[in-house]
Formats: sequence, C-alpha cells, structure tokens
Amino acid sequence: MRRAVDKICARFSDDYWLERDRDGKFPDRFHRSLAAEGWLGVCIPEAYGGSGLGVSEAAVMMETIAASGAGFSGASAVHMNIFGLNPVVVYGNEEQKLRMLPPIVAGQEKACFAVTEPNAGLDTTKLETRAERRGDHYVINGAKVWTSTAQVADKMLILVRTTPRDAVRKPTQGLSLFYTALDRRSVEVHEIEKMGRKAVDSNQLFIDGLEVPIEDRIGEEDQGFTYILHGFNPERILVAAEAIGLGRAALRRATSYAKERVVFGRPIGQNQAIQHPLAQCWMELEAAELMMFKAAWQYDHGEPCGPAANTAKYLAAEAGFKACQTAVMTHGGYGYAKEYHVERYLRESMIAKIAPVTPQLILCFIAEKELGLPKSY
Ligand SMILES: Cc1cc2nc3c(=O)[nH]c(=O)nc-3n(C[C@H](O)[C@H](O)[C@H](O)COP(=O)(O)OP(=O)(O)OC[C@H]3O[C@@H](n4cnc5c(N)ncnc54)[C@H](O)[C@@H]3O)c2cc1C
Repeated sequence: MRRAVDKICARFSDDYWLERDRDGKFPDRFHRSLAAEGWLGVCIPEAYGGSGLGVSEAAVMMETIAASGAGFSGASAVHMNIFGLNPVVVYGNEEQKLRMLPPIVAGQEKACFAVTEPNAGLDTTKLETRAERRGDHYVINGAKVWTSTAQVADKMLILVRTTPRDAVRKPTQGLSLFYTALDRRSVEVHEIEKMGRKAVDSNQLFIDGLEVPIEDRIGEEDQGFTYILHGFNPERILVAAEAIGLGRAALRRATSYAKERVVFGRPIGQNQAIQHPLAQCWMELEAAELMMFKAAWQYDHGEPCGPAANTAKYLAAEAGFKACQTAVMTHGGYGYAKEYHVERYLRESMIAKIAPVTPQLILCFIAEKELGLPKSY
C-alpha cells in the first residue's frame, strides 16, 4: 500500500504543494488521481464501490500521503472521504448507502463535516443549530464554524439539535445527524483566513432555512451523537497518522540538509547538538506510530479504542510538531524561507494539535477514564 500510494504522490512535487500553499487552490488533480486509482474508497465496503479495508490500512495511506511532502494540504484534501462517512456505513440504511457512498468513492462528490459551532466549542452537546420537522422534510437554521472543504463540497454531514437540551434526559440526546446537499441558496459559506493549509479551506457557515428531506437523516432522530461518536476514534487515528507522516517529511528534509550544509569546515549534522534532536524526533515518531497502530488494530478488531486513539492523537501531534520545529531550526535561517518547505510543514503541524480535539481535552479524558479522577469538563 505504501509503495502504491507513494507512486501516486511522487507525481506531485514539493513545488506543487508550495504553489497550492501560495494560491490556495484546492488540489483537484491530486484528489482526482487518488480517486482514479480507487483509493478514496479504502474503508468503504466493496458493495458500495470501495475496498472494504480497515482503519489500519487507511492510516498507512494517510501517513504515506503526508510523508510524501503533501502534508496536511494533501491529507486534508481527502481526509473526509476516507472515514468521514463512517456513520453512513454503520448506521445508514441500504437506500442511503447506495445513494451516498459510490459518488464519494468515485471522486464525483466531495463532502464536508459540520460539527463545531461558534458558541459550543468542544462542548458539542451545547450546539445551537436546530432542525425542525415539517412534514416530509426538516428545516435547518444556525451556524457552524471551521467546516473544512465547504468551498468545494457538494454534500455535508451535519450534526444539529432536534430536541431542546432541557427537554431530554441527557444532553447527548436530542441531536440528529444528516448527510445532505450543501445547498448554497440556504447556506452562506465564508472562508476563514488561517495560518496554514491554505489549499484546503475552512469556513464559517450561516444556515438559513435549509430544507432537508427526511431520507437524508442518518439513523433515528435524536440519536445523532451516538452515531458521530463512532467516527471520532477512527478520525483521531487518522489525524495521528497524518501528523506522523508530516513529521517524517520534516525529518527527512532536516537530515538531508544536515548532511549537506557545511559550516566551520564540516557538515552541521556532524555536531551532536544537531544530531541528537533529530534522533529524538525519529524515536518519538516511531513510538507514536506504534501507539497509532495499536489503536487502529483495536478499532479494526471491534475492541474499545478510546484511550489508545486519544493517546495516539496526542503523542503523534506532539511528535509531528516537534519534528517540524526541529527541521526549521536545523535549517537555520533557511528554515524560515518558503523554498525549503519546512516552515510550511511547521504551520500545518499545528492543525493536528488543535483538531479534532485539543491536548487539554485529551488529558482530561485520560485522567478521568484511565486514572479514575473526577470528570473535570
Ligand atoms: C484547520 C482546522 C480545521 C478544522 N476542520 C473542522 C471541520 O472540518 N469540521 C468541524 O466540525 N470542525 C473543524 N475544526 C474545529 C476543531 O475541531 C475545533 O477547533 C476544536 O475541536 C477546538 O474547538 P474550539 O476551537 O471551539 O475550542 P474551544 O472549545 O473554544 O476551546 C478553546 C481552548 O480552551 C481549552 N478548553 C476548553 N474547555 C476546557 C476544559 N474544560 N479544560 C481544559 N481546557 C479547556 C481547549 O482545549 C482549547 O485550548 C477545525 C479546526 C481547525 C483549526
């Protein structure tokens, strides 16, 4: 898998990604190349056009993409395709799977994932976007933020409230999940200018009277939070894989620069002060990868994987960020120049730290679930 994916990625040079970082254009050619060779359906069952493989294989694919130098610009361009529609695979009915999955596998449709809201933040149960049932359809009103790829997406997977928070027993109840057309007549999409990954947009969505047919609701009304949870762990595993891949791309560039750059009459890589941080990054990336594959193995074997998936995401994000930062420092002044690519990697490596969940919240989760300490959030 690594070799096959790498072969596709090799057609997209570092300069291709540097150009996308400058002009902010979605990497369409890259997306189409992966689609043409069937990679977008890696985790989608064969009955719907996919390869029916697990999250372990998807992790290999995403790590390889990021490690090729495509970084998060490449990985995020296809990330949603890979596991984003897992709630449809697991909880959708036959008609929905046949209608929704094949166009994603073929690369004919792109989807975005609209969960985060301005007033709710990480406290997802406080989201305020509402869907009201009117006969055979729902009407959605509200706002989302950070929705990635909404500039180019045809469809969106959206979590909204269908029963008010004070009318349900538990705050996680009363939320519903829809996979529906991103109808721009009712959804205003405003791009957020951001630090990195310019080629893959992130947006604010203002939703005003979006009509959604009842057939686009995934599973039961009010049970959406349970369905979305099913996708959380695989997503953490894939983000971990992407962060490790990016870290490896940075380490590769730093190592090769350290061998070539001669100062004080010898390659800078001959100095232990340059070697040791690079060796440390190598070890931390290896360790994070093991943790990531442990979580992927658990998920693929139907075992609980929450602690491992969160730990993998945390460790991989830290290791990836540190490798990118070390790569910039190894390059000295040139690390700050765009043509050496590592400054772009450093900006992109922050994404894995923040999304889809922050390090603080992972620490809260581990403290509670693994150490039995009182819930703090
Ligand atoms: C590039 C990018 C792409 C994204 N793409 C998507 C997407 O496609 N779809 C989508 O739905 N979302 C997306 N997100 C959103 C992302 O998942 C959220 O930004 C993230 O979950 C954090 O939520 P928040 O920004 O609202 O932070 P907040 O919830 O406002 O938190 C702010 C800070 O406070 C800390 N904090 C909050 N509560 C506690 C507590 N109890 N204890 C300790 N610390 C706490 C947090 O850890 C964080 O550091 C994306 C974000 C980025 C940056």
